[in-house]
Amino acid sequence: MTKKLYWEDATVSSFKSNILSIEPYEIDPSKFVVVMEETAFYPEGGGQPWDEGTIGSSAVVYVYEENDTIYHVVEKAPTETKGVDCQIDWERRLDLMQQHLGQHILSSVFEKLFSATTVGFHLSNEYVTIDVTKDSLTYGEASLIESEANAVVFSSLKVFTHFPNDEELKKLPLRKPPSVTEGIRIVEVEGYDFSPCGGVHPLQTGSVGQIKIRKWEKMKGHIRVEFVCGGRALKDAAWKNRQINEISNLLSIKDVETKEFVEKLVADSRKLEKTLRTYRRELMDYQIKELHASAEIHKDCSLVVKVFDGEDFKTLQSMASSLNQYPNTVALLATKTDKAQVVFTRSKDLDINMNQLFKEVIELVDGRGGGNPQTAQGGGSNLSNLDGLMTAAVMKIKNEYLK
Ligand SMILES: [Zn+2]
Repeated sequence: MTKKLYWEDATVSSFKSNILSIEPYEIDPSKFVVVMEETAFYPEGGGQPWDEGTIGSSAVVYVYEENDTIYHVVEKAPTETKGVDCQIDWERRLDLMQQHLGQHILSSVFEKLFSATTVGFHLSNEYVTIDVTKDSLTYGEASLIESEANAVVFSSLKVFTHFPNDEELKKLPLRKPPSVTEGIRIVEVEGYDFSPCGGVHPLQTGSVGQIKIRKWEKMKGHIRVEFVCGGRALKDAAWKNRQINEISNLLSIKDVETKEFVEKLVADSRKLEKTLRTYRRELMDYQIKELHASAEIHKDCSLVVKVFDGEDFKTLQSMASSLNQYPNTVALLATKTDKAQVVFTRSKDLDINMNQLFKEVIELVDGRGGGNPQTAQGGGSNLSNLDGLMTAAVMKIKNEYLK
């Protein structure tokens, strides 16, 4: 059984202890598991991640508890075993304690203001969430909850731990029932909240710094609330502040006007896109008329031949399907982008197999593709031979297909 220094005093960041055993770590034999007489390293549990730090000069990468013994997983075996200097990564521990106590307070406020019970808690290095039994949450309600929770933080209430006997336990106004039956540990936020918990917490609520709800989403029958406390709240505010400042500078507006202005920008941009689409359509109709009007006439058939530079393939396909609405028309369209792309089409009143013609010439650009007797399309990598392909196709139309 390891003596748990973190329960006696959650502010211990360095201590000396005697090592009782050093064994290879079963899960990863390159690492070792150290057991000491006493420890301030908090093991994983109760939703709170483990502490990191050093035992002697060995880095502690994981800490877990089994049958009241605390096991420290280290990168290398410590060389000393008596009075070994141990150091907790305090930045990590303080961060985790801030989030953890913040959770006690936030859960308590949800309970007090909306009778919403916390049914889930997740704390990682990236984010902290609680799941509360509530159907919805408005910005107004979230703001009310934040005010109350931060009033508890600003009051710097003391945080006590109790190991009550059965009689004493009955008298405590617990927020939730204990999950264990023996050695029940109660964490009290000075007269405000009593909850069973085996975790580590700062000694007073002021250390939480600030509790900020970031966002929330509906989950099956409850609300998942994501929040940040202390240093994380500061970092969260910092990047958001910077982004709002940079956006408002970019738009030359006041920071408080950012949302309204961006909403207007998005609406304007949608209108512009719609107008642009209309103009593009009109322009294309005009181009199609032009193309058809200036087409070479061969045996009473209009022969539209055009190679575009950089036009996208979709536009080409769209043009082809407009051009083949004209009677007695063959259209051979191509575009040069990073490759050579081709669409061959004809009006329904002509008996020409465009797929066959396409297959006969597409190899000239090392290409592939196909279609049906009316329309065939595809592309190839040999851009330099695209003009040769078009010339060959025109020759074939004139000499073989429209004889
Ligand atoms: Zn706790």
